[in-house]
Amino acid sequence: MRIVLVGPPGAGKGTQAAYLAENLSIPHISTGDLFRANISQGTALGKQAKAYIHAGNLVPDEVTIAMAQDRMAQPDAVNGFLLDGFPRNVSQAQALDQALTADDVRLDAVLDLEVPEEEVVKRIAGRRICRNNSAHVFHITYSPSKQEGVCDACGGELYQRGDDSEETVRTRLEVYHTQTEPIIDYYKAQGLVVTISALGKVTEVTERAMEALKRDPASQG
Ligand code: AMP
Repeated sequence: MRIVLVGPPGAGKGTQAAYLAENLSIPHISTGDLFRANISQGTALGKQAKAYIHAGNLVPDEVTIAMAQDRMAQPDAVNGFLLDGFPRNVSQAQALDQALTADDVRLDAVLDLEVPEEEVVKRIAGRRICRNNSAHVFHITYSPSKQEGVCDACGGELYQRGDDSEETVRTRLEVYHTQTEPIIDYYKAQGLVVTISALGKVTEVTERAMEALKRDPASQG
């Protein structure tokens, strides 16, 4: 399957993507993770992206699209993938369509995770992520690790993302509304969007998502 995951920052895209990718046996491709890996390795790409990410803005399309396409061309993604955080604007969505058409394949679904704005802010403010694996996500109030600052799953160090500060979150939400939300209509026109609520336990949302992916997106209108 070829799936795109959309939703505001804090919707739980990364967490859900990890579970869904495993259930569906497809690679989880997160452009945010790819950028963070480049930044921590000090690559030229990381240096280009750093200031944009720190400010909560989108990294320019030419850099992002090339990086995403490069990753999608890897052998593990030939038969499917779950995109998390890409595309994030309509021109990225058009570039993705062109690349898929050139390969004679198409998307199967766009999974839209809905969550109220006040919930988003609460989720992000307390979010802590493992340095070893970004799918190991905790929350200081909602799902605290057993030992403060230490990942329950692998013992890695938990940290707060630099762009999870309150000020940057506001910019990221604004960017989501103005630039990313329009891709939902873009994909609705193609009959690809399935919308689910991202509220509740992680496992409940995963089950909801798996059920939704079994339905024909075109039947959702
Ligand atoms: P994420 O981990 O998906 O929340 O992404 C973190 C940050 O990486 C975003 O706030 C952007 O600055 C940057 N980023 C990730 N994906 C994209 C994309 N598709 N286009 C532009 N910037 C992106």
